[in-house]
Amino acid sequence: MNKKLYSPLIFELSHPGRHGADLPDYDYGTRGGLGSHLLRTTALELPETDEPTVVRHYTNSSNNNFGVDTGFYPLGSCTMKYNPKVNEAMVNVAGIAPLHPAQPTSTAQGALKIYRTLEKYLAEIGGMAEFTLNPFAGAHGEYTGLMVIRAYHLSRGDETRQRVIVPDSAHGTNPASAAMAGFEIVEVKSLADGTVDVKDLRSKLDETIAAVMMTNPNTVGMFEKAIPEIAEAVHKAGALLYYDGANLNPMLGVARPGDMGFDVMHINLHKTFSTPHGGGGPGAGPVGVRKGLEQFLPNPRVIEKEDGTLDIDFGDDAFGRVSAWLGNFTVYIKALAYILTLGKDGLAQVGPLATLNANYVMESLKDLYELPIAGPCKHEFVFDGLRDKSTGVTTLNIAKALLDHGFHAPTIYFPLLFHESLMIEPTETETPETLDAFIAVMRDIAQKAKTEPDEVKGAPYTTPISHPDEDEAALSPKLTYAQLK
Ligand SMILES: *Cc1c(COP(=O)(O)O)cnc(C)c1O
Repeated sequence: MNKKLYSPLIFELSHPGRHGADLPDYDYGTRGGLGSHLLRTTALELPETDEPTVVRHYTNSSNNNFGVDTGFYPLGSCTMKYNPKVNEAMVNVAGIAPLHPAQPTSTAQGALKIYRTLEKYLAEIGGMAEFTLNPFAGAHGEYTGLMVIRAYHLSRGDETRQRVIVPDSAHGTNPASAAMAGFEIVEVKSLADGTVDVKDLRSKLDETIAAVMMTNPNTVGMFEKAIPEIAEAVHKAGALLYYDGANLNPMLGVARPGDMGFDVMHINLHKTFSTPHGGGGPGAGPVGVRKGLEQFLPNPRVIEKEDGTLDIDFGDDAFGRVSAWLGNFTVYIKALAYILTLGKDGLAQVGPLATLNANYVMESLKDLYELPIAGPCKHEFVFDGLRDKSTGVTTLNIAKALLDHGFHAPTIYFPLLFHESLMIEPTETETPETLDAFIAVMRDIAQKAKTEPDEVKGAPYTTPISHPDEDEAALSPKLTYAQLK
């Protein structure tokens, strides 16, 4: 049976005169010097409810949420791993929680040390010379990295490089960021095995190309074995090689982009380094550069002064600010806590375990789901819908059917290389029992698609909303109380 479409709004639970807190009477006196144009003419519309109603309302609303803390969340290209609670606790310690970005740096030396230490660790993990933590997201990191690349070319008086090469399998943010940074996009094709067509890439490299953006493992979960060859060709053509490290998870402890020949990279701390994400929460997309490109990174930066103290450099830089201050500080604390908790040996297990889990799920389902690119895969893989296409059951139907079993849907219809893409990333934090339960449900859905396809197509049966008009929901969503009233 369907849950209620939505739990009542707090306004709908309101009764005039009812209240949950007693405040002392207070006479605010005359309204100071406020001009009449600033005074409200109608009463403030606030809900009036008792305390238990408020508590139940918000607790029940929160139960409508699905998160990695409530269940398995195999959303490909998103690394929805479990985020240890100890990292959240670190954000709230007494020395950190009350910090203000504008307080004198002499009173925030510890915070600046956290910042600088994380930059150094990321440089070590990525095989880069230097990092900036400024950017607020992966896409913002891409934009920042591309602006660094532009500043590099311009510093050499090279103004002809106005184009950036992006593989057709790339995350949508790659071409979008390149366009935001003012570049024209040149697409390269993927081969049947999902890797970049090096021949096609070579034919497009010339003096108009500023950079080539690569993701490795790429978005179909395949390792790009030709990277050394690609790096050589890109550098020979005078361009730089950009690494989209949003999904650094499979690389941890196994390989470093810097060692493969990448010049500039970003990392999504909110995917790999333990910040819960989804729903637009705070993130960070630090950008690393190889030796020789450090001077093109944006300010503000934390600098080490001669007397050993730390300060912030707000001065001019190569292309202007991407952030007013140092960035999303709480995300850095969680990332550093995560790195220090796991240590070098622990981090080195992340990539191999994420890879093992992905291959386990892939191997357990590929007899029923179409695997267009044979494994082994890295941290994620892509099915092209069911093998039995005669059932009429689509990837969207499968994704929705999973919801009735307490699993979040995988990423669907991305990458664009296949019509029925179903992209699964289990991550390293899941137990064999969880993976087996997911596999069992996926197998069940595939079997049911043959015998009772309409039942699968009718799912989900247990969610507040099951089959909204997708276009309408995307183009004119009703998001406010006034729209629902
Ligand atoms: C998530 C992701 C991005 C974008 O990161 P945001 O923080 O969402 O901007 C870029 N590239 C890849 C491969 C990703 O998975």
